[in-house]
Amino acid sequence: MIKIKGKNVLVYGMGISGQSACKLLHEKGACVSIYDDEGRFASYFNYQKSPLLKKYDLVVVSPGIKVIGNQIISHFIMNKTPVISELDLGYLFLKGSLIGITGTNGKTTVTSLVGDIFKKSGKKTFVCGNIGLPITNIALQTDKQSVIVCEVSNFQLELSKYFLPDLACILNLAPDHIDRHGNFEEYINVKRKIISKKHSQKVVLNYDDEITNKILIDKKVLFFSKKLLNKGVFIKNNAIYYNKTKIISLNDIPLFGEKNLENVLAATSIAVKMKVKPQVIKQAIVEFKAPPHRLEYLGQVNGADVFDDSKATNVSSALASINSLGERGLVLLIGGLNKGFTFDEIFNKNINFDNIYCFGKAGQEVFDCASKYGYSPMLFPTMKSAAFYARNNAQEGQKILLAPACASFDEFSSYAVRGEIFKEIMFDNFEKIEMS
Ligand code: ADP
Repeated sequence: MIKIKGKNVLVYGMGISGQSACKLLHEKGACVSIYDDEGRFASYFNYQKSPLLKKYDLVVVSPGIKVIGNQIISHFIMNKTPVISELDLGYLFLKGSLIGITGTNGKTTVTSLVGDIFKKSGKKTFVCGNIGLPITNIALQTDKQSVIVCEVSNFQLELSKYFLPDLACILNLAPDHIDRHGNFEEYINVKRKIISKKHSQKVVLNYDDEITNKILIDKKVLFFSKKLLNKGVFIKNNAIYYNKTKIISLNDIPLFGEKNLENVLAATSIAVKMKVKPQVIKQAIVEFKAPPHRLEYLGQVNGADVFDDSKATNVSSALASINSLGERGLVLLIGGLNKGFTFDEIFNKNINFDNIYCFGKAGQEVFDCASKYGYSPMLFPTMKSAAFYARNNAQEGQKILLAPACASFDEFSSYAVRGEIFKEIMFDNFEKIEMS
């Protein structure tokens, strides 16, 4: 535990994590100053217009702040002012068992499922982190008996130096957020920070992912796999096993698609490693409701099945949905704000798309890439216009999939809003919503 009482602390970045950090620091008796690149909360008395002019005992940086090339952060580091992440701050005041879940895709799904498993086991459970509830928000409510299930993003890990979960899980690693981290190697290095050399830490890794299966070879690792393993969590006889113990038949899993099977394997591994009983794990999986906008089945339009995977904001997650739906009759809506990808991996597989509708800021780039591989895509200025066209031209037997492989911010405030509007358009409610 660090001593905060009476210390001058600057919180940099006033999104929900920064606000929550301020609250914790206040409760612990710190003198809190705030600063935000976009001037949020600028009218507050403790807002610093020129944060570099004052000295601080500690600087807490929110995950929304880009670290590379940041002059404010460099200034404090050069002046030897301790700089920590919001994740670190929460961690330093946490009691109980901490589970940290990271990876490129599937974090929210796995974190929610692991949370459900522990709740079902009767533990006092907190589900927090990147999932939407900052760790600093719940830290002071935890006690020795608590289980804290924390979704950890790269943005949160980037500046962290103390955060050290009792169990660390990396689900998978594929290029993402290259616009922020510069390159894939740096992105992997940041993710790796969740694993420590400390032997008491438990580690869960994906055996089927060619990067995570090499990240740490150590007895403390529990691997999960869709293939048969000698030991670990794996699939045998159409069921999930932990070594010799059957956990659940695949037919009892209510989630759709291959990638969700990986997520269930990961959640099972975390739970068995933390000694949760197999029947509790099974029951929580059977009752689990996947979070929305993740390959969510919305219903039929003119006999075409409609899927919303607005959360597929990178190439690997979009590709995973495409693979889950199979090759026939697929109509793909793809585009938005490019996060630094090329789209070749989607179009070089010879998949027999019925149609490809490209949209948004990255629309032309996606269109050019698809054309290069012999497809005849169509280009739309926005997701809305692409969705209207998809609805009006839907045909029986098709699968219409929104899997943008891009961020949403060129047209929407979030992936969730993009998914909601897609749904409204596909099911004819959009004009009504716009008018009301
Ligand atoms: P995250 O929190 O890591 O972004 P989510 O559970 O919110 O993960 O899912 C994000 C996107 O990744 C969605 O498009 C979802 O369909 C897809 N996805 C979920 N699990 C996996 C997985 N194991 N591998 C690849 N893609 C996945």
